[in-house]
Amino acid sequence: MTATFQNPLPSGKPNISRRGKELKYSREENPTVEELERIVASLDGYDDCLAFNSGMASISTLFLSRYRKRIVVNLDSYSATVGLALRLKAMGFDIEICSTDHLGECIKPGSLVFTESITNPLLRVPDLEMLRDSCIDKGAEFIIDNTSATPVLLKPSLFSDLSIQSATKYLSGTNDTVGGVVSGNELSELWEWRRVLGSILDPFRAFLIIRGVKTLELRMRRHCETALTLARWLQDHPKVKEVIYPGLETHKDHQIAKRLLKGFGGIISFRINGDARKFLMNLRKIKRATSFGASISLASIPHGSASSNLTEDLIKASGIDGSLIRLSVGLEDPEILIEDLDSSLKGI
Ligand code: PLP
Repeated sequence: MTATFQNPLPSGKPNISRRGKELKYSREENPTVEELERIVASLDGYDDCLAFNSGMASISTLFLSRYRKRIVVNLDSYSATVGLALRLKAMGFDIEICSTDHLGECIKPGSLVFTESITNPLLRVPDLEMLRDSCIDKGAEFIIDNTSATPVLLKPSLFSDLSIQSATKYLSGTNDTVGGVVSGNELSELWEWRRVLGSILDPFRAFLIIRGVKTLELRMRRHCETALTLARWLQDHPKVKEVIYPGLETHKDHQIAKRLLKGFGGIISFRINGDARKFLMNLRKIKRATSFGASISLASIPHGSASSNLTEDLIKASGIDGSLIRLSVGLEDPEILIEDLDSSLKGI
């Protein structure tokens, strides 16, 4: 935890960062941040990683660094990511927004293609093999936001040139910090952008995320198991209209999910026969809060965040409406969660 470094050391040897430069200042580089970066690069299967002060800081630094490219963003991505792309478009960036089903057609030579591996909140699973091959064919750069899957369910280096994650979610896992990471094989240009934009993570939060990552695999297994149990239970409930979970055979991308993922994730989206807000208010154990990937279960209505980021037309095209509930399944006893869901559904 330091803002600046004394150089050279009394030994006369400079204090060298792993990027081969002298450690000077924590806006550029910090050893605790570097430790997190080494861990995430190895989990993701790349040579390098950079940590940022939020998931959005990772994405905005990345998009800004690609200012010369045509940037294609999946409409089914987190609404703030699409909102960022729309703002950049208004500033003159070459941006195209395409939904999961049309992403393949939008790839042109030299584009940057950005998609989530399990989209938030409608949990689409794009065919990453097809997209990877098409990007290679066309000389496009392929970037996966792997926040919902994490490297435990999907190793991004098998598919994409770069991978980003909001470390706020499963990587840290305890809902006590905000952060982001970008992994890839050649990040020196992005490192320079992070340095001048000042979007690096601070060492204390890097330390917290390092602690979280130690239990990532164990937690992901439990999130996936409980989510599948709850999704099946919800599917059979008379007051539930629709359940969206990649592990259900009724899910549009179930076959792709089975082929690509080592588990179907910890998030379930669903619609009920009744007032979604009232249902949320009835919950006693599950917290009414945005975000996901925490040890405690969280439920929210993503329409609010979509409304603050997207135009009316894009909200309609995205299929996110006020009746959609997103449940981030935590690590609690599944029976306790079922009891809470059941009594809340009875009260609507
Ligand atoms: N990517 C995905 C898939 C997300 O869901 C989010 C946030 O919800 C982000 C990126 C942005 O991360 P952060 O909130 O850490 O900025």
